[in-house]
Amino acid sequence: MAVPKRKTSRQRRDKRFANKGLEVQSFTTCSNCSAALMPHSACKGCGFYKGKKVLISKDDRSVKRDEIKKQKEAKAAANASVEATAMEKGD
Ligand SMILES: [Zn+2]
Repeated sequence: MAVPKRKTSRQRRDKRFANKGLEVQSFTTCSNCSAALMPHSACKGCGFYKGKKVLISKDDRSVKRDEIKKQKEAKAAANASVEATAMEKGD
């Protein structure tokens, strides 16, 4: 049988039980998207707190980005068509 070479020190022994008193932290769920949340905090996923929108969420930002992109594309398409008609008139 394997025998320990040295005595386990008090520090080493007591470190073994250091996590024994830890408790699972309490959490709540988001009223809008039912994601797990820390108590008294706004949801980072949907930006809701107590049923009201208080934060700009990631989804909102991506939707806004898509809208801006579409507007730019529409502008570029309009400019291209204007240039094409100008070229036809010039000839
Ligand atoms: Zn949420």
